[in-house]
Amino acid sequence: MIVVYSPRYQIDIGPHVFPTRKYSLVHAALLESGVIHPADCVEPAPASWADLGLVHTAEYLHKMRDGTLSTEDTAQLELPWSAEMVEGFRLMVGGTIEAAISNFRLQTSDFRVAVHLGGGLHHAFPNHGEGFCPFNDVAVAARVLQARGLERIAVVDLDVHHGNGTAFTFESDPRVFTFSMHQQHNYPLWKPRGSLDVGLPDGAHDDGYLAELARALPAVMAHAPQCVFYLAGADPYEDDQLGGLRLTKEGLRARDRMVIGAVRDAAVPLVVVLAGGYARRVTDTIAIHCATIEEALAAA
Ligand SMILES: [Zn+2]
Repeated sequence: MIVVYSPRYQIDIGPHVFPTRKYSLVHAALLESGVIHPADCVEPAPASWADLGLVHTAEYLHKMRDGTLSTEDTAQLELPWSAEMVEGFRLMVGGTIEAAISNFRLQTSDFRVAVHLGGGLHHAFPNHGEGFCPFNDVAVAARVLQARGLERIAVVDLDVHHGNGTAFTFESDPRVFTFSMHQQHNYPLWKPRGSLDVGLPDGAHDDGYLAELARALPAVMAHAPQCVFYLAGADPYEDDQLGGLRLTKEGLRARDRMVIGAVRDAAVPLVVVLAGGYARRVTDTIAIHCATIEEALAAA
């Protein structure tokens, strides 16, 4: 079992709906409950600029590196630029790469799990960042795996928001199956087409959500992926400030079990990343993320 995390994910972005302290809180809670142990944890190296360049344009990366984003760029990113912010997210991309690669060090084809206590920055496009996502960690990690010879990859994106950046990145790459199930009437307004998009009505609740998920997962696994990335967003939760799908904590845990079970049944390596979570009480977000990790590691 591999758990990737760095305390440097807690970045100062000022007063913000995005609680970057959630990463260290999830890590601390998992240690305290004994779900993970210090010896399980690996601290990543930052993604290299060359790795980021597998997805992002040189022009965009220059702007991020040099701090020359325009006012529009920064408004779209919805994060204040700082060297610390860029380094923190570069490290977080490195975390998803580390989790993805670590799953293949053993060179077997069985089910195994790597969890990243970070990542899921699915709104980042090749040429710009948006919605708190400067770089698209899962897209970069998928490109890294492709460079190492993987032919088929699937992304299961269950954040409440559509995975627009990921869908766009792989729009014309049939080797990567992008599945997003999200709240239809929510950010982002423009939802580039992924391999499978399920836009749910407001207030779908547990039953409606889980029924749609059960219908969709066989289509994802029919792609015969050699690696599955799971974005286990906590923001479909009923008390989330940015989501309106109204799932309970039990419903979210059932969701996690369903995804993890489908990947395990197919004996495919799984990479779990956290993605969004903006519950009114940050303790709810922490509990939802911890439940996901518990389920993932219990299945391993
Ligand atoms: Zn989200």
